[in-house]
Amino acid sequence: MPWTERQQALLQGMGLRIWSPPPAALRPAAPQAAPAIVPLAVQAPVEAPTPAVTQGGEPAPAHPVVSARTPPAAPAAAAVPPPSAPSPQAAGVAAMDWPALREAVAGCQACALCESRRNTVFGVGHPSAEWMIVGEAPGEQEDKQGEPFVGAAGQLLDAMLQAVGLTRSEADAAHQVFIANTLKCRPPRNRNPQPEELAQCAPFLHRQIALVRPKVLLAMGRFAIQQLLGRDEPIGRLRGQVHDYHGTPVIVTYHPAYLLRQPTEKAKAWEDLCLAVSVYRQRQG
Ligand code: SF4
Repeated sequence: MPWTERQQALLQGMGLRIWSPPPAALRPAAPQAAPAIVPLAVQAPVEAPTPAVTQGGEPAPAHPVVSARTPPAAPAAAAVPPPSAPSPQAAGVAAMDWPALREAVAGCQACALCESRRNTVFGVGHPSAEWMIVGEAPGEQEDKQGEPFVGAAGQLLDAMLQAVGLTRSEADAAHQVFIANTLKCRPPRNRNPQPEELAQCAPFLHRQIALVRPKVLLAMGRFAIQQLLGRDEPIGRLRGQVHDYHGTPVIVTYHPAYLLRQPTEKAKAWEDLCLAVSVYRQRQG
């Protein structure tokens, strides 16, 4: 793995060892060798992946795509209601452009969270980003600043993104991500989002994804996964696979705030990010 000294320093700063291929049990059960995963900033020109061939002679996907609505092979956990439960505002939101959507979020009073918020947290990044990060709900700092993933969790996310050549700062669509939260307003005392709040806010996130049209989605944390995939199994059971959101591949991983509490899980989050890089590279060109 040709890590540069700078990238090694970044990874060590996150408390991560230099990545090596995960154990076979953690990899998607692809019948072909996974393409090499290298940081985008240093990657060599990508050759078109050679499709593997199944016993039936059909080309097989490099990564298994698990439908958002396909029941898991493992013992099923509690099912979650469809994430896009009808909302009174859904129809109008689905037709909005960026300015209208931003204005609608800023003035939204569709759930009780509008009463306690300081700011709505719309999202930041390139409007046509090829990578989109979906987090959970704003915390105290996000509520203060009106931006997702600030504070220590945001710094960890930025470091992980930087290690694969991505940034939230101004850059082209291939390198500047778009970051959005599942809820646009902070739940009081950082309590968990309620189902009705998630349902009311869902149209905003769905419209953001439709406008950005990313090549890969990273769902960080339980509520982001519920909102995008309608799945409620533990993250540990869902990660390591390529899920589907209306044709866009979704990689699920742990929220950076969780990683700060459980630093031993950082290596898994890094594996997830490397899987996302692999999927992204297959969709390039
Ligand atoms: S959380 Fe979402 S639905 Fe609720 S008030 Fe804020 S923007 Fe509106």
